[in-house]
Amino acid sequence: MIGTKLPDAEWQHAEGLKKVLAVLGDAHGGPRYVGGAVRDTLLGLPVADVDIATALEPMDVIDRLEAGGIKAIPTGIEHGTVTAAIGGKNYEITTLRRDVATDGRRATVAFATDWREDAARRDFTINALYAEPKSGEIFDYFNGLEDLATRRLRFIGNANERIAEDFLRILRYFRFLARYGSGQLNADAIAACAKGAHGLTALSRERIAQELTRILSLRDPALSIELMITHGIFTPFLPELSSSAANDLQNLIKREQQFAQIASLPARFLALLKRDAVAVDKVAARLKLSNKLREGFARRLTAPPPKPDNIRATAYHADIETARDVVMLYSTDSDVPECLAQLQQWEIPSLNVKGGDLIKLGLTAGPLVAKTLQAIEATWIDEGFPDIQRQNELASQTVNAALSETKNA
Ligand code: ATP
Ligand code: MG
Repeated sequence: MIGTKLPDAEWQHAEGLKKVLAVLGDAHGGPRYVGGAVRDTLLGLPVADVDIATALEPMDVIDRLEAGGIKAIPTGIEHGTVTAAIGGKNYEITTLRRDVATDGRRATVAFATDWREDAARRDFTINALYAEPKSGEIFDYFNGLEDLATRRLRFIGNANERIAEDFLRILRYFRFLARYGSGQLNADAIAACAKGAHGLTALSRERIAQELTRILSLRDPALSIELMITHGIFTPFLPELSSSAANDLQNLIKREQQFAQIASLPARFLALLKRDAVAVDKVAARLKLSNKLREGFARRLTAPPPKPDNIRATAYHADIETARDVVMLYSTDSDVPECLAQLQQWEIPSLNVKGGDLIKLGLTAGPLVAKTLQAIEATWIDEGFPDIQRQNELASQTVNAALSETKNA
């Protein structure tokens, strides 16, 4: 059960963090942890990064950090955020704020000293929990503790208004829903997301892509994605969504769980799209996806339909992860176990025969060596990557054939 004190967790013992808190001092009750670190510690989950809220103004924060010999990075000074870098970790320290104006994308903020006001401008009740570092006392202005205990994701205030202030909150809603929302669905919040979806076009594509990537990287985003599809959230930025996207993603995740294999991010993306390189390219360009992701798409889309007798070849031409993804995405149910078994505990071999060996066998150095080597490799792959003895046989056979061909020519 969730108590009213922050449980002890390893991240709280980092020397760097203690030093940061010490230099920030005690003014206005001192700094407090906020957001993910509090939420996830209460749930007993690991914490990746620690956000700190303070009533001190950003310049004061920078001065204090520097005076304490801590590197201060003015990450978003106009929004009140300074990053303290110490002990190999970054701590985001943000001055308490109040929204002065919002336009659906960025807020203009004023610095404040009121904790409740700062909490009110955060998105969800479970994200607006603060903890006092020394005592562990939790400050909960909007019933976030109860929502956390019942796994309910709730906007602070009126969902329609909160979304109109910042449309990114729609995507954050579905991300946090996939992460924490096993409780009852909130129909009003989902309706508000649907109503605000058109506003997503106001956001930069990078921000949309980043949120979508985060959603797709979660352990099981299938329900969130299905809700997003049903409520038209993708329409403004991803009209290429395949008509079976919800089902295909669900199947992919079912297979992941059944075979204890996590599919990679490109595979999760591809589950949403038609198996069509041109359409996928269009999506990648629109969302300005990384080259790494695009290359990942291309490798998976160019692989032949996965079968137990060709899946190692796919791994050989690409890599094991790609082959595994292709199985998880595109195999028939009956082929999945055998395809995966082919990849399990199998290392991609390399051909031992080299160009020099072919010259020793009688070929003259030149383009014919490369061509013959390719032919040997192709047969070797076809035969299922046989060992060195068979490779040598293949080498002499293929060289002899090449030699008699040149003689006849
Ligand atoms: P994560 O584990 O994903 O980092 P987090 O809750 O720490 O989760 P961040 O994106 O790091 O999420 O943001 C930190 C906090 O800032 C959130 O918990 C929330 O209180 C607030 N916040 C972030 N983005 C928004 C937004 N678009 N609108 C309102 N509040 C936001
Ligand atoms: Mg965070």
